[in-house]
Amino acid sequence: MEPWKERKLVTIIFQKHEDCAYQKNKLLARLLTGSILAHEMMHAWLRLQGYGRLSPDVEEGICQVLAHMWIESEIMASSSSNVASTSSASSSTSTSSKRRARSQFDQKLGEFFKHQIESDTSMAYGDGFRAGHRAVLQYGLKRTLEHIRLTGTYPFETTMAYIL
Ligand SMILES: [Zn+2]
Repeated sequence: MEPWKERKLVTIIFQKHEDCAYQKNKLLARLLTGSILAHEMMHAWLRLQGYGRLSPDVEEGICQVLAHMWIESEIMASSSSNVASTSSASSSTSTSSKRRARSQFDQKLGEFFKHQIESDTSMAYGDGFRAGHRAVLQYGLKRTLEHIRLTGTYPFETTMAYIL
């Protein structure tokens, strides 16, 4: 191959690699920033709504529940954009397969972030999240928040205390 052609090919490969790394970093930053913002905004919302002093597991746990929900919504959005791109007749096969690959990567990264929250070993963030998540699955977010506002605890824990 002529030297100038080879240089051009190397440049294209590097650009492709950088583009891919940039896209991954951008997504990583978006998921990380978004989940942190969801968590911090929940702290602010609790204060603005007049929630009293909460125990760290309830306070941090419910904020982690919101961060987890935000990541889940991002995964859903990414999977629906995948469906949209595959059903689009105007996009070429290579473009739609690229989009599909990126969307699958988005979903995997989202699942990884979700798993990080779910498997946290700390009492406040980890145990707090798991108790909050169970409560939200059982009673819904609105009722769980109402219960926290009235009692400072998760409804699940109240049920447990009642049984004991
Ligand atoms: Zn926090």
